[in-house]
Formats: sequence, C-alpha cells, structure tokens
Amino acid sequence: MAFYNPKRSRSWNYKGEKWRLSRSKLDLFMECQKCFYLDNKLGTKRPPGFPFNLNSAVDALLKKEFDIHRRAQTPHPLMVKFGVDAVPFQHKDIDTWRENFEGVDALYEEGGFHVSGAVDDVWVNPAGELHVVDYKSTSKDEEVTLDAEWQDGYKRQMEVYQWLLRKNGFKVSNTGYFVYANGRKDKDTFEGKLEFRMKIIPYDGDDSWVTDAIRDAKECLDRDIIPGSSNSCEYCAYRDAISDVEREVKPSKPVEKESEKGTLF
Ligand code: SF4
Repeated sequence: MAFYNPKRSRSWNYKGEKWRLSRSKLDLFMECQKCFYLDNKLGTKRPPGFPFNLNSAVDALLKKEFDIHRRAQTPHPLMVKFGVDAVPFQHKDIDTWRENFEGVDALYEEGGFHVSGAVDDVWVNPAGELHVVDYKSTSKDEEVTLDAEWQDGYKRQMEVYQWLLRKNGFKVSNTGYFVYANGRKDKDTFEGKLEFRMKIIPYDGDDSWVTDAIRDAKECLDRDIIPGSSNSCEYCAYRDAISDVEREVKPSKPVEKESEKGTLF
C-alpha cells in the first residue's frame, strides 16, 4: 500500500526543471495562497483526495463515445439534441491535451515558465472556432445547473483551458460546454446498472483574469514569506491548535518510535 509522502524532489518545486503551473495549482492559489506556497515553493503538498472512480468511469465512456464521432466527423446525438452546431475536433495532439500531467501547454513568457491543463474534450464549429468541453457527473433529483457558488471553480477551469488554447494560436469561442451526466435514483431497482440523464449546458467564459492570476501566483512564489491562511479553511486553525497543545505537553522522556523499540523473545 502506498503511503502519503508530503515531500517531493526539488526539481518539481517552483524554479525546478520539472515545475509547471498547472490549472489545478492555479486554482489552489485562488483558494489559499499559503497552501499554494507550501506546495509549490516548499514542496509540501496536501494529502490527495479520495479518487472518484465512478466519475472517472463516466469520463472514460464519454470519451470513447465522442471519439467515435471524432473519427467520423459527425456530431454526437447529444450535440444534435441540444442544438450544438459542432463536431469533436480532430487534432494530432488531442490525446496529449486530454492526458493528466500532460495537457495543453503554453509558455508564460513574462514568467519564463509553462502553464498547463488537461481538457476533457474540444469541439469545433463550422466557423473553425474551438469549444472547450468539460464532462461532469453527479446525482441529484433536481435539474442540473451551473448556478451554485461552488461551481465557480468549474467555470474558472474552463476559462483557463480557453486561455491555454488561445496561447497556442487557436481561434477559441467564448462558449464552452459542460456535458453533465446525472445519475438517476428514481429507478425501482438497481440490477447492476446506473442510468443517467444527460444534458449539455453552454457557458460563456471570460479568460481576461487568467494572465493577472498567473502573474499574482508568480509574485507570491517569488516572495520569501509564507502567506497567511485562508479564512474559509479550518485546517490551519486545527493544525495551530495541535501545535499549541503539543508545546504544552512536555513528555518526561522522548517517545520511542515504533521502529526503535526492542523486540522481546
Ligand atoms: S488554510 Fe487550509 S488551505 Fe490554507 S494552508 Fe491552511 S490547510 Fe491549506
């Protein structure tokens, strides 16, 4: 079993040869500058979240379906149903763009580093403009929308992809699409099958904030002080409270590590 190792080699830190500002790192910067700094400059990353295997399965199957139409250069029936005048985009780099840890890559000249992000899909309309596409899955009784505050992260994600494709010289439409799979709980039985209501939701993006955010993220990393904690996260308060109580408790003798204890025969 692999255990969480918070430290990583320096080459993956800011100014290291392998470091890139990924879309998710930029989102971390927007969420909490301290966590971003600890991760990218000091190389101490957060524990990973639990993998969403069901969501990944939906993404993989959607990708297969849209790839059939990419090869045939025909619209997917969902695109027809929701009035999207486009087909999946054929490009030699499409698999790289969709690959985690690869993605669409662009040089941020002012900072001298690369920015990257892995898209779910790209469609192209008859005018030759690209549409960024994001697959999402959920399960809720009500109609799926983009109205919740927590979905702002989804919108930022799409706008970073639009920015990246534009930096690569493509003509990119402001309109992106979320392909939403909504798992149904209103069936009488399960029978080993999960059914989904499918919906395409258009979103008009505005990537004008992206360059400023990248510049701010760089300035943050160039400073020699660790930024303050985010007010909306409770974990640093928890961590500080632990440090306080640990300082108060002075053990009379050092605690033996499990590995240093002798073995009795
Ligand atoms: S406040 Fe939360 S997000 Fe920020 S550094 Fe602390 S644990 Fe990380």
